[in-house]
Amino acid sequence: MSFAAGGEEDLPSPFADIPALVHDHSYLPIRFDGLVDNALVYISGLGVRRALKKLSCDVCRASLVTEAASAIKDQSYHLLSLRNNGGLVIPSEGTVKVVRAAEWVIRQASSSFGRSRPIKLLEVMYIVRKRIGSEDVFVLGEHIVDTQYGIDSHHQTLLTLVVSVFFKIRLHHIAKITTLNLQSNNMRQQLNKTVLFKGH
Ligand SMILES: [Zn+2]
Repeated sequence: MSFAAGGEEDLPSPFADIPALVHDHSYLPIRFDGLVDNALVYISGLGVRRALKKLSCDVCRASLVTEAASAIKDQSYHLLSLRNNGGLVIPSEGTVKVVRAAEWVIRQASSSFGRSRPIKLLEVMYIVRKRIGSEDVFVLGEHIVDTQYGIDSHHQTLLTLVVSVFFKIRLHHIAKITTLNLQSNNMRQQLNKTVLFKGH
């Protein structure tokens, strides 16, 4: 079996109104206002928890998270803390970048085309994969080369997984994202935790 390098070309584009989203570069850099961004980082953290349960590759697992305190710079602590599923999970910069891209796609799709139906997961995935392209967002480095000619590329697997868990969690948090109900002190505290990441 052989696979095209990069692997982005293997999906057909059955979505008639998608090309505009793929080629629209207005998203660079993807930044939302502070509150939305905090919510996205918070949801990224929830998503990482789910993603870690589905990933067996330690390199990929490590790429999804970052240390809360940069005080612990020793990489050997990194995997150790990954094993501790009860601890605070801080999503890596790459994870948040992919989540921001997915959120952008969802918002553009719902506002630009006057859709009568919400955008589907496969469509979001397709566009995010197109837009991220071969950029090493998860900082996998050599690991991409290691896995590129295998059955799948771990880079693509990670992209797919992160977008997929985000999409599902987002459905349940859509009210919080769109209205950002900050009356809840509990939510406020959780948002404050994610500010740790932004100081990174
Ligand atoms: Zn991997």
